[in-house]
Amino acid sequence: MQAPDITSFIPPLRTLMGPGPSDVPQRVLDAMARPTVGHLDPAFVGMMEETKELLRYAFQTENALTMPVSAPGSAGMEMCFVNLVEAGDKVIVCKNGVFGGRMLENVKRVGGVPIVVEDAWGAPVDVAKVEAAFAANPDAKVLAFVHAETSTGARSDAQALAAIAHKYGALVIADCVTSLAGIPLMVDEWELDAVYSGSQKCLSCTPGLSPVTFSERAIAKLKARKTPVQSWFLDLNLVLGYWGSAGKRTYHHTAPVNTLYGLHESLVILAEEGIEHSWARHADNHVMLRDGFEAMGLKFVVEENYRLPQLNTVYIPDGVDDAAVRARLLNEFNLEIGAGLGDLAGKVWRFGLMGHASSVKNIDYCLSALKQVL
Ligand SMILES: *Cc1c(COP(=O)(O)O)cnc(C)c1O
Repeated sequence: MQAPDITSFIPPLRTLMGPGPSDVPQRVLDAMARPTVGHLDPAFVGMMEETKELLRYAFQTENALTMPVSAPGSAGMEMCFVNLVEAGDKVIVCKNGVFGGRMLENVKRVGGVPIVVEDAWGAPVDVAKVEAAFAANPDAKVLAFVHAETSTGARSDAQALAAIAHKYGALVIADCVTSLAGIPLMVDEWELDAVYSGSQKCLSCTPGLSPVTFSERAIAKLKARKTPVQSWFLDLNLVLGYWGSAGKRTYHHTAPVNTLYGLHESLVILAEEGIEHSWARHADNHVMLRDGFEAMGLKFVVEENYRLPQLNTVYIPDGVDDAAVRARLLNEFNLEIGAGLGDLAGKVWRFGLMGHASSVKNIDYCLSALKQVL
């Protein structure tokens, strides 16, 4: 067989203002280009311990079981469901966009009995509906919801939702993929039991890692399982042999060493900035983008009170060709924005201001590019 005549891939230089991945700072890319070491090398193990400590800061938690899963956010989601939901468990699952729908799919696949609380796309999860669902199903074992719905740009009240679940003795699984580092997320104070996130949204690392954190309550539920965890790769009991205590690491899988250098660096950058400053920067930049959009006559999908600063969803103006505008932004301005998903497909654009991409420079660039194209 002839060798294919293909040379190195040189990616175009884009500005990433979609729903993720976000722009990755050069510091993170440089960290990832450092020499690969063995995944059980003492130097690497030391870096893993630092990564866990930095993640605890990002999640605002003391949870010992805090680590990055070696796979994207979707794998962090699966890890929560396969470990914490057993066949026959009732799970109240909130659906107000694409990612709530994925949680529902996970509940079904692990044999859970879903009780679905639905809200409109663009609305937050209705706390009163969740309260009513628990009143009707006081035996529910888990509440699952998305903190920051990236498909719509809506923020739900994670603290209020978790309080209801705990009143009924249920665990809380929260999708915080887009919220981590972009809006306040207080895992301990709000008593969230199992939380998963992603490396490529407001942390501005490359895609492919899913930071997760589990409370003591979640670990107690895991230990009390009557059946083994169905997934070998995601079984927390086994993963812990590798990510658990630094002294006695055993081989589970080969960690993505260089990607973890990148995550470590992105978390160091977050610690340098300070998490409160990161939240404030995302909030301030949203206001600047919002003012620019409103001056152009664009209308937001989500009410101001529930709006995510890091994911701005606006209606496409009448008579404007959705795909043509996005193609011109990409081809002429190297600017990536997000299309609508599900119920909002073809109706909205999603502008991410996540992590490193949440900057005045990007906002100016985006507003001027959009004005020229429209
Ligand atoms: C991006 C995203 C995911 C999935 O993360 P992947 O890294 O793409 O697997 C899950 N939930 C939400 C809210 C997201 O924004």
